[in-house]
Amino acid sequence: GLAMAKSKFEYVRDFEADDTCLPGCWIVVRLDGRNFHRFSEQHEFKKPNDDRALQLMTRCAQTVMQELEDIAIAYGQSDEYSFVFRKNTRWFKRRASKFMTHVVSQFASSYVFYWKDYFKDQQLLYPPGFDGRIVLYPSNQNLKDYLSWRQADCHINNLYNTVFWMLVQRSGLTPGEAQHRLRGTLAGDKNEILFSEFNINYNNEPLMYRKGTVLVWQKINEIITKKIKLPKEAEEKEVEVTRTKTKVVPLHCDIIGDQFWEEYPEILAE
Ligand code: ATP
Ligand code: ATP
Ligand code: MG
Ligand code: MG
Ligand code: MG
Ligand code: MG
Repeated sequence: GLAMAKSKFEYVRDFEADDTCLPGCWIVVRLDGRNFHRFSEQHEFKKPNDDRALQLMTRCAQTVMQELEDIAIAYGQSDEYSFVFRKNTRWFKRRASKFMTHVVSQFASSYVFYWKDYFKDQQLLYPPGFDGRIVLYPSNQNLKDYLSWRQADCHINNLYNTVFWMLVQRSGLTPGEAQHRLRGTLAGDKNEILFSEFNINYNNEPLMYRKGTVLVWQKINEIITKKIKLPKEAEEKEVEVTRTKTKVVPLHCDIIGDQFWEEYPEILAE
C-alpha cells in the first residue's frame, strides 16, 4: 500500500522472478482446453465439429480482446486460441505472468459465463480449465509463420477428423478400425476416401472448420437513431446518426498466403 511503512517482511518481494518480455518482440499467448477430449464427450459435442463449441470459444476470445489491452490479432481452432500482443505494448510492464494469467482467466470465466447462450439446454456439468503458454517472436516473419503453423495444424487435424468420423458414423467402423484404416494415408488419400466413399468434396466443407477463426479489429459504421430535443421545438425528434466503432470481427480466411497481410497491414504496424 501507498502510505504503509516498509515492514521487515518486505524483503520477500525480492524472491519474485523478473519475467519481463524482451522489448520489441511479438508476445503470443496460446491457451488450450484441459482434457477437452473428455469434456467434448461429456457435453455431447457434435463430432468432428460442434458449431456451438467453436462459436463459444470465439465469443470468449472476443471478450479477451475487448477487455485486455493491445491485442492485435487472435487465431483459434478446436479447443485452442492464440492472442498476439503488439510488439511495443507497455501493458503491465510486459510481465509475462500478467499477460498469460489475465488472458487465461478472462477466457475461462467467459466460457462459463457465456456457456448457456450457445448450449441452451445442454447443462455445464463441471468447471472447465485451460492451460496457457507464452512465446516471443522477434520478427514479423516469425509471427506470420507461427500463425501459419496453427492454421496448417487446423487443416491437418480437420481433414483427418472429417474422414475418421465419416468412417465411424456412416460406415459403422469402430474408432479403432477407423484409426487403422487411416494409418499412413496422405492428404490425397483422405480426400479420395471422402470423395469416393462419401461423395464429399473436402473443399466444400465449411471454412470455419477448415481454416479456423481469425479475430481482427475493424472499423464499423453504425447507424443509430438518437432522440434529440431541438431548442425551439417542444417534441423530441428522432434523427439518424452514423458513428464509427472499432469491433472485433471473426474471419474464416487463409492467413498463410500474403493476401491476408496485404489486406490488413495495420495488424503488423507499430
Ligand atoms: P489490480 O487489477 O491492479 O489488482 P484492484 O482494484 O484489484 O486492481 P487490489 O490492490 O488487488 O486492486 O485491491 C483489491 C480491491 O478489491 C481493494 O481495493 C478492495 O477494496 C476490494 N476488495 C477485495 N476483496 C474485498 C472484500 N472481500 N470486501 C470488500 N472489498 C474487497
Ligand atoms: P490436453 O489437456 O492435453 O489439451 P485434450 O483432450 O484437450 O488434452 P487436445 O489435443 O487439446 O486434447 O484436443 C482437443 C479435443 O477436444 C479434440 O479431441 C476434439 O475432439 C475436442 N474438441 C474441441 N473442440 C471441439 C469441437 N468444436 N467439436 C468437437 N470436438 C471438439
Ligand atoms: Mg494440448
Ligand atoms: Mg486441449
Ligand atoms: Mg487442443
Ligand atoms: Mg486486484
